Amino acid sequence: MLYVEPIYRPPSEAGSLLIQATIGCSSAAQGHCYFCGSWLIDRQIPQKKFRVRPARDVIKDLDEAADQMGPGVRRIFLLDSNAMIMRAPELEKISRHAYDRFPALERVSVYACANDILRKSDEDLKRIRRAGITLLYIGLESGNEEVLKLHNKGVTAEEAVQACSRAISAGFEISLTVILGLGGRERSLAHARDTGKILSRIQPHYVGALTLMVVPGLPVEEWIARGEFELLSQEAILVELEEMLGCIETKREIVFRTNHASNYLPLGGTLPGDKERLLATIRDARERRVPLRPEHMRGL
Ligand code: SF4
Repeated sequence: MLYVEPIYRPPSEAGSLLIQATIGCSSAAQGHCYFCGSWLIDRQIPQKKFRVRPARDVIKDLDEAADQMGPGVRRIFLLDSNAMIMRAPELEKISRHAYDRFPALERVSVYACANDILRKSDEDLKRIRRAGITLLYIGLESGNEEVLKLHNKGVTAEEAVQACSRAISAGFEISLTVILGLGGRERSLAHARDTGKILSRIQPHYVGALTLMVVPGLPVEEWIARGEFELLSQEAILVELEEMLGCIETKREIVFRTNHASNYLPLGGTLPGDKERLLATIRDARERRVPLRPEHMRGL
């Protein structure tokens, strides 16, 4: 089975069988996402240059995994950063084969860029969903257009709304990532409010908040050195989180988590029921009544 390191997967896919369907990230290859380590990996690790594997090779890996692991696999995550870029017939073939080889399989999930969804027709999206790919992890990062532009995200907040609503209409569950601190001090409030508003429009099934970490060599490091970008303090990150969460209006249940290793305050709950409890914990943390993850314990 092929694995091209380094491998990244969502925290909630820790127990899943990982199958490499694409290598690298197509957005990073186009120079998008200045905050993301993939941007650097694409430039520094030639074997991680973005490419799509032929479906027959991915299917061979599924066969090999089935021979080694038996039929008990319940979850599969298709690597790498945006396997959803594959054409619908390929994704369909891979997913159907996965369900054939693993009779206990309950879900196949992938990372998707908003553009991967927008490029597909509604019929293609439904076809992929019917083949058993049920959950898409999408990086929203921010709902503020200026912040997205600053980091060259390559997609606007409005496009992200369109992509997510088409994916939800096609029957997918979606899990969105947002990044605390992404706008720096200057844009913190706008980032928090606009992200909360966009999440309210999208109504995703899951939201995971990360906190910006500065990877050496990324453009953000240079901005900081030039005094053009100011990182948020722990306190300011908590204020941003409180504001963002406070702005999320729910029309259905949304699982909200900050359990990623980059965060100072790990939280988890289901909105709207747990909103007040989560907000109270953030206030307690701001007053140091709840311990925060120390800086040296944060990671990506
Ligand atoms: S944030 Fe996601 S889409 Fe952007 S470069 Fe990183 S992995 Fe790729």
